Amino acid sequence: MKLKSSEPFWLVKNGNPHSYPSLRTNAATEILIVGGGITGSLIAHQCLEDGYETMLVDGREIAHGSTSATTSMLQYEIDTPLHTLVEKIGEKGAVASYQACHQSIDDLGKLVRKIKSGCGFRKKQSLYFAAYKKDVDGLKREFDARAANGFPVEWLDAVEIEKKYKLHQAHGGILSEQGANMDAFRFTHDMLAYNVKRGLIIYDKTKTEPLVYSRNYVTVPTEHGTFIKAKKVIYCTGYESVNMIPENFVRLHSTYAIVGEQQSQHPDHLNDTLFFGIRHDHICISVLPMINAY
Ligand SMILES: Cc1cc2nc3c(=O)[nH]c(=O)nc-3n(C[C@H](O)[C@H](O)[C@H](O)COP(=O)(O)OP(=O)(O)OC[C@H]3O[C@@H](n4cnc5c(N)ncnc54)[C@H](O)[C@@H]3O)c2cc1C
Repeated sequence: MKLKSSEPFWLVKNGNPHSYPSLRTNAATEILIVGGGITGSLIAHQCLEDGYETMLVDGREIAHGSTSATTSMLQYEIDTPLHTLVEKIGEKGAVASYQACHQSIDDLGKLVRKIKSGCGFRKKQSLYFAAYKKDVDGLKREFDARAANGFPVEWLDAVEIEKKYKLHQAHGGILSEQGANMDAFRFTHDMLAYNVKRGLIIYDKTKTEPLVYSRNYVTVPTEHGTFIKAKKVIYCTGYESVNMIPENFVRLHSTYAIVGEQQSQHPDHLNDTLFFGIRHDHICISVLPMINAY
């Protein structure tokens, strides 16, 4: 599957900080993680924290999947709005899910500081705006649900958004206190390099094939004709998980991240805020403090 163009910005900016060998012999481990993007790197970190013998493999170089292509925005909002999630799974679960995501941004910040990552993590506000009038009622319902459950949010109408951010097409929006920016590619490399020193084994350029179950373990074949025996396998394969799940559960379209040069003077209200539209054809804007980040 084509996940990105050949020159995503983060690759151009960072080069390839760490390369690992491919797996050319059979191997065994307690936990095998398939996928070395930001998800696999965080799961590997937690497995090591919990004392498991852990191996991570990736079919490409590390972090060369969609992690190398992101717009660098960290938001606590998941794709399903809180008020819709409440209808689907009930208030308790929905609010707990949003609270966990809210907390995770601060947890990531702590992790960045702990491993001394150069990913330029920076806390920001975020503006979730309606680019079409017909979306304003739904967005207001979402605002009410978040405010009622104690999330730090403020409603801005079209005039306030225009005045504050010079966004002409926004008809209203939720301004949240919680959000951040970071270079996920760099963070993933830093996180994995940190954990290699603590015993994590990594093989890249090693694509796995469908596994074979046994009573107490699984055997994962690789593209090189080698096998990995593991007690547990955790798949962190991002969008490419569709290749492993038989159900037709999602339709993937194209996403574009366009990077432009910074103007020398960015007013603080642009530097300190993430912008994202409510629709699926939405636009996300984030201004990166590149000069300060590294
Ligand atoms: C253009 C673009 C912009 C985005 N912007 C944002 C953003 O601003 N904020 C945000 O939160 N999210 C954003 N995303 C989504 C983003 O990609 C994810 O949030 C995140 O990077 C996914 O990380 P991941 O580790 O789950 O997946 P990936 O980084 O895709 O990692 C999966 C890894 O699994 C490996 N793999 C797959 N199959 C196999 C196999 N069989 N054997 C071995 N290895 C395998 C792949 O090589 C890949 O390295 C964006 C996505 C795109 C495409």
